[in-house]
Amino acid sequence: MSELPYSYDAPVSQALFDRAATVTPGGVNSPVRAFRAVGGTPRFMVSGTGPYLTDADGREYVDLVCSWGPMILGHSHPEVIAAVQEAVARGTSFGTPGEGEVALAEEMVGRIEPLEQVRLVSSGTEATMSAIRLARGFTRRTKVIKFAGCYHGHVDSLLAAAGSGVATFALPDTPGVTGAQAGDTIVLPYNDLEAVQEAFHRHPGEIACVITEASPGNMGVVPPLPGFNQGLKDACRANGALFISDEVMTGFRTSRAGWFGIDGVRPDLMTFGKVMGGGFPAAAFGGRADVMAHLAPAGPVYQAGTLSGNPVATAAGLAQLRLLDDAAYAKVDAASERIRTLVSEALTKEGVAHTLQSASNMFSVFFTDRPVRSYEDAKTQESFRFTAFFHSLLANGVYLPPSSFESWFVSTAHDDRAIQRIADALPAAARAAAEATAA
Ligand code: PLP
Repeated sequence: MSELPYSYDAPVSQALFDRAATVTPGGVNSPVRAFRAVGGTPRFMVSGTGPYLTDADGREYVDLVCSWGPMILGHSHPEVIAAVQEAVARGTSFGTPGEGEVALAEEMVGRIEPLEQVRLVSSGTEATMSAIRLARGFTRRTKVIKFAGCYHGHVDSLLAAAGSGVATFALPDTPGVTGAQAGDTIVLPYNDLEAVQEAFHRHPGEIACVITEASPGNMGVVPPLPGFNQGLKDACRANGALFISDEVMTGFRTSRAGWFGIDGVRPDLMTFGKVMGGGFPAAAFGGRADVMAHLAPAGPVYQAGTLSGNPVATAAGLAQLRLLDDAAYAKVDAASERIRTLVSEALTKEGVAHTLQSASNMFSVFFTDRPVRSYEDAKTQESFRFTAFFHSLLANGVYLPPSSFESWFVSTAHDDRAIQRIADALPAAARAAAEATAA
């Protein structure tokens, strides 16, 4: 803490972090929670209500992370909690089919026209891993195209990041991923259709699928340029590959029907997580019925899960989805727009070069004055300004994602009071960003 310009203590969180570090690598169960990109003490949260989180030191924050997307109705929504309590009272896991799974699948299929069938899993990672396996099994091909800066969970073959140049074979991006696992992944620059055409040209008959975030939020928010997703779909169709749209982040968040509800490009397969689980581990993949028919036990491609379709998780997800009507999305969109405007005004007032990018109600700030269309662009931002901005907001009770390469999330619960608290905290944060210097 002492090296940070904003000295504020979180002694209970720090003590918990120290304790955690002795029994858990890095003290966390998912790396970005450790605050490594921004420094300082990760806040251990003890409760959440509406748009607020309370940490172990008793400080309250307006939450702009929303558990990385899922909490679109805010924390502890009474109807979601009631559905969970009702489900828990009946038992927590049966390892058999149950009506809740059917109802959740029906709700999803009813919202998204190209989603003819779904299979429930427990995490977004499982969803993308299974979708890739199914695409390979269906096409009997091996190679996968993904885009630099898109995150699809920690699937071995999808952790490969960009090599230099176009259509290079990726190198493993983390120890533990073998060259063989990464070698079938072709990593291309985002928003570059020519690179996609060239990759298909260089690997005729070898590419099983193209996977992309429907609208990326894992390099900050970088929406697809007009025609990009359609171009991917067309290239896949022309070359006998499947088009997989990863809607783990955008699904049921950016609209009733996720990003598909916005751009209308029909994928062959889609993946979901986050919002559909209502804050519980539930995720899914699905799409064309003729492709899904290749999945066990209907077909030969194996996929399974002890806790898949868990009754408590499906009850939470279903309750959340049923509350997400047009009025709810209008509320989230409006809150997002107000916060975006406030952020941009505060930074402009202090003369801080920035680009605020949004995709429906998802948004993020890049500390650069140029539009960000790819991961390469995103990396040119002045991240040290984000660090100062982040810590000033944290000190003043606003909780942002602890990295400049993440989307910010809001909920239906972000009301006038919560937005006013953000507005009150922004001038100092913008000043801190203006005054920050590179380390
Ligand atoms: N796909 C996308 C687009 C994501 O944003 C994420 C997680 O952030 C995943 C997949 C992986 O989901 P999970 O963390 O549930 O494994």
